[in-house]
Amino acid sequence: MKLMGLEAVEIVRERVERFRIPCDLSWGYCDLANKPRDLQGLAEDAEELRSLGYRHAVRLLQASEMGSVIGSERYAGGMIDMGSGHLHPLNLALGEAAAAQQLGVKLFEQSEVTRIDYGTEVSVHTAQGNVRAKTLVLACNAYLNGLNPHLSGKVLPAGSYIIATEPLSEAQAASLLPQNMAVCDQRVAVDYLRLSADRRLLFGGACHYSGRDPQDIGAYMRPKMLRVFPQLAEVKIDYQWGGMIGIGANRLPQIGRLADQPNVYYAQAYAGHGLNATHLAGKLLAEAISGQQQGRFDLFAQVPHMTFPGGKHLRSPLLALGMLWHRLKELM
Ligand SMILES: Cc1cc2nc3c(=O)[nH]c(=O)nc-3n(C[C@H](O)[C@H](O)[C@H](O)COP(=O)(O)OP(=O)(O)OC[C@H]3O[C@@H](n4cnc5c(N)ncnc54)[C@H](O)[C@@H]3O)c2cc1C
Repeated sequence: MKLMGLEAVEIVRERVERFRIPCDLSWGYCDLANKPRDLQGLAEDAEELRSLGYRHAVRLLQASEMGSVIGSERYAGGMIDMGSGHLHPLNLALGEAAAAQQLGVKLFEQSEVTRIDYGTEVSVHTAQGNVRAKTLVLACNAYLNGLNPHLSGKVLPAGSYIIATEPLSEAQAASLLPQNMAVCDQRVAVDYLRLSADRRLLFGGACHYSGRDPQDIGAYMRPKMLRVFPQLAEVKIDYQWGGMIGIGANRLPQIGRLADQPNVYYAQAYAGHGLNATHLAGKLLAEAISGQQQGRFDLFAQVPHMTFPGGKHLRSPLLALGMLWHRLKELM
């Protein structure tokens, strides 16, 4: 049996190789334990991976060994996984878009869909014109909004933000992440970080459930970076950005088709882990729509997904309250 989570990583690896996409793909990832009790969870993860026949190196690290992965005193241990890694996601998307176009796919940018007429033939409307199709895939994730209230009610948009430092010297970069791994901690609002190919530290994190972006992402994220790497106090922040991730109640991807419109498929809610999972979702949708294979798609389609209570306006504040409770529990 091929595990779909691993297949998702393989799809990305194959695409990058097959279409020679220059996206700085680099292998090696480490989960960081914030507290000694997190190490127990990581040990269980490592055991589960081994029991599933995971073929890549997985290794648990104690606090005293963490210097080989990260130049920070903050962590109680970690778990290295050489079958995961990091890449430049925009360059991956651009490379895949170019490859798709070469294969005959037509892409239209700056064409927001404002209305959908459902039926055996679907019509989608934009400000510039309409498109008719036998089959429609809704893949707007946390940005679906009112386009399909039934589906958007199952996804909560949460803001995540990244800062990029100025380019660091080779010695400085190597002292922060000596093995050039991507790393991520275990808290509810995770810190995630890696080096770019031009030796900037990319420091991401937060999970804003309010639906409002911070006014100054740099000012908001910099203290978080300095808590991990106080040695970067004099380093400039060159770039800052963010976006909405889509979170479902059970944190599983939502892949299926509308009960009352069988020619309308959807894929959404990757809970901030969509890079690989979107590739798998695309494959499952293609298998189902082309009639090649239905079983794998059906496996996801039958998972029930809760609609968040509170309607459009109360959904995010209610979740913000719930997440605050989880963050308070982390302090205990
Ligand atoms: C700061 C940040 C860091 C992240 N880091 C990671 C990470 O390290 N690893 C990881 O796996 N994932 C990460 N994610 C999550 C990942 O980006 C998402 O899971 C992934 O992008 C989801 O892909 P998607 O295609 O479903 O949705 P999106 O990438 O959100 O794309 C949705 C698309 O729909 C379009 N759209 C929306 N409404 C309409 C409309 N009405 N008409 C036409 N088009 C429309 C949008 O323009 C957009 O292009 C991160 C996300 C953020 C914001």
